[in-house]
Amino acid sequence: MSYQAATNRYQDMVYKRCGNSGLKLPFVSLGLWHNFGDTAPFDTARDMLLRSFDLGITHFDLANNYGPSPGSAETNFGKVLHSDLRQHRDELIISTKAGYHMWDGPYGEWGSRKYLISSLDQSLKRMQLDYVDVFYSHRPDPHTPLEETMGALDSVVRAGKALYVGLSNYNAAETRRAAAILKDLGTPCVLHQPRYSMFDRWTEEDNLHVELGNLGIGCIPYSPLAQGLLTNKYLQGIPSDSRAADGNNPFLNAEQVSADKIAKVQALNAIAQRRGQTMAQLAICWLHRQASVCSVIIGASKVAQIEDIVAAQSHLNLTEGEIKEIEYILG
Ligand code: NDP
Repeated sequence: MSYQAATNRYQDMVYKRCGNSGLKLPFVSLGLWHNFGDTAPFDTARDMLLRSFDLGITHFDLANNYGPSPGSAETNFGKVLHSDLRQHRDELIISTKAGYHMWDGPYGEWGSRKYLISSLDQSLKRMQLDYVDVFYSHRPDPHTPLEETMGALDSVVRAGKALYVGLSNYNAAETRRAAAILKDLGTPCVLHQPRYSMFDRWTEEDNLHVELGNLGIGCIPYSPLAQGLLTNKYLQGIPSDSRAADGNNPFLNAEQVSADKIAKVQALNAIAQRRGQTMAQLAICWLHRQASVCSVIIGASKVAQIEDIVAAQSHLNLTEGEIKEIEYILG
C-alpha cells in the first residue's frame, strides 16, 4: 500500500542539538544493525521504518556491514527510502560507518583512506543515495596514522558525499586527538557513538562525556537497552522471539542473561513502574541525564517496541532522588 507520512509527525518528538553544531536529532534514533538484513522479514522492517518516521524519528543509523548478509541492511533501507520516503529525503538524517571487516584483503577494514572512501562509495550505491548525512570512522585503527583516517573523513565531506562526520568506539584520548585534527582540517566532528547503558559505563570511567562536552561534540550512545536486557523482556526467562534466544547471534547469548542482571532489572523496573513508565523507557531517560547525550540509537524487532520508547518523551527527566536510587541498584 502506498505510504502517506503522518501530518502530525513533528508534534510531540523532542529534538536535541548535537554538541555545538547546528544539527538537531530526535531523542531516540533507530539503528539497523539487527532485523533489517536479508534474513529479516522485509515487511516488518519497512513497517518499523515508516512508523518511526511517523513518530518523528528522523535519524536512521546504518553501517557498511549491517545485515546479515553484510550490506543488506543498507540495500533494504535504500528500497524503503526510494519506494516510500523519497520525497522526505531532506527531513532525514542517514548515517553510515566504515571500520569493521567488510571485504577480504588489506583494504576491506580498519581506517585507511583507501578503505573508508571505497566503503562509503559502496554504501551510497547500496542505499541509492548521492550523500549520507553523517559518515563515521567505526573504530580507531592502531596501525593507520590518525591524520590519514581523519583526512579521509574531511575528503568525503569536501566531495559532497557526507554532510557531517563522526567517531565511534574512540576513547577520550583518541577522541581529543581526532577532533583536533578534524578541527584543523575545517570539518568538525559533530557526533560520537559509544556503547553506553546502565550495564556498560566505560564512557563514564574514561571521562568521555566531560571530554565531549569540552569539545562540543554530541554523544549518541548505541545499545542503550544492553541489547534488550534493560527491558521487561527477560524478567520471566528467555522468550523464543528474543535476540538472546537466537543461537546464531554472537553478540547476546543466554549466559549474558544472568540472575544478577535480572535481579537488577527487577529492582529498576519497580522505579519505572512508580514513574508510570516501562523499564525500556527508564533506561533511555537515564542516558539523557548526561548533558552530552543528544540522542540514543535503539534497535527493534517490532513496531510496538519503537512506540514504547517514543512514549518516554513526555517524561524524560529523572529526579536527583531517582538517579541516586538507580545508582544504588546498579552498585
Ligand atoms: P538496544 O540496546 O536498543 O537493543 C535492541 C533490542 O532491545 C531490540 O532488538 C529488542 O530485542 C529489544 N527492545 C527494544 N525496544 C524494546 C522495548 N521497548 N521493549 C522490549 N524490548 C525492546 O540496541 P542495539 O544493540 O540493537 O543497537 C542499536 C543500534 O546501535 C544498532 O542498530 C546500530 O545502529 C548501533 N550500533 C552501533 C555500534 C557501533 O559500533 N557503532 C555497535 C552496535 C550497535 P529483540 O530483538 O530481542 O526483540
